[in-house]
Amino acid sequence: MKSAATIVFLLASFFTQDPSREKERMQMVARQIAARGVTDPATLEAMRKVPRHLFVPAEAELYAYDDRPLPIGYGQTISQPFIVGYMTAILNLKKEHSVLEIGTGSGYQAAILAEIVKEVYTIEIVGPLGIRARDLLDSRYDNIDVKIDDGYFGWSEHAPFDAIIVTAAAGQIPPSLIQQLRGGGRMIIPVGSPYQVQQLMLVEKTNEGKIRTTGVMPVRFVPFRRK
Ligand code: SAH
Repeated sequence: MKSAATIVFLLASFFTQDPSREKERMQMVARQIAARGVTDPATLEAMRKVPRHLFVPAEAELYAYDDRPLPIGYGQTISQPFIVGYMTAILNLKKEHSVLEIGTGSGYQAAILAEIVKEVYTIEIVGPLGIRARDLLDSRYDNIDVKIDDGYFGWSEHAPFDAIIVTAAAGQIPPSLIQQLRGGGRMIIPVGSPYQVQQLMLVEKTNEGKIRTTGVMPVRFVPFRRK
C-alpha cells in the first residue's frame, strides 16, 4: 500500500504540474539520455520537443518522464526514454531520410523519428494500438503513415528505407527487412528469445549490399509477434 505521504506527494505534483511538462522533459534528456552518452543533436532536440506524456495512457501520465518503460495496454510497453534515444541516435538520421518502424505501440518513437526525418512509415500488429497511435500522430504530423499489419514483411511499396527500427524482439532478423534497407543504410533491432535478455543488433548494409551485424547492448523488449 502507498503511504499517506506518498499519496499527498503524488496529488501535490499532479496539481502543481505545468501542463506542457517542459521542465521534466529537459531533465529527462539531460539526466537519462545525454548523461548516458547519447550525443546526436537531432535526437536530443526531438526528445526535448515531443510531449511523451501524451503518448502514455492516462493512468501512467504522471510517470511519463520516469527512467523506465511503461505499460500502454494489450500487454505492450512504451520503451524507456534512454532506449528510444539510443536507438534513434545510432541510426545516423538525416533530414531527407525515409524510415520504417516495426512496432508503432504508443506512437512515441514514430513521433521522435518524424521530428528528424522526411518520411516515417510505421507498422503495428495490434489493431486498437495502431488506431490510437494513428489518431494521435495524424493530429500532430503529416509525415507519418501508420499501417495495421504484421511488420515481418516490411512495407515494400515504400522501400528502400534509409533506416529501419524494430521495437519488438525477434528470434531472427526478418529477411524482408534486410532486403528493404537501402545500401549504406542502418537497422536497429533487438534479437533474442521472448521475455529474456536480448541483444540490440546494429545491422549495416554497404553500398555493395554486404551486411554487417554488431551487438551493441543487452535489452529487454516485448516479443515480435506473427499473425
Ligand atoms: N515503438 C513503440 C514501442 C512499442 S512496444 C513506442 O514508442 O511506444 C512494441 C510494439 O510492437 C507493440 O505494440 C507490439 O504490438 C508491436 N509488434 C509486435 N510484433 C509485431 C509485428 N510483427 N508487426 C508489427 N508490430 C508488432
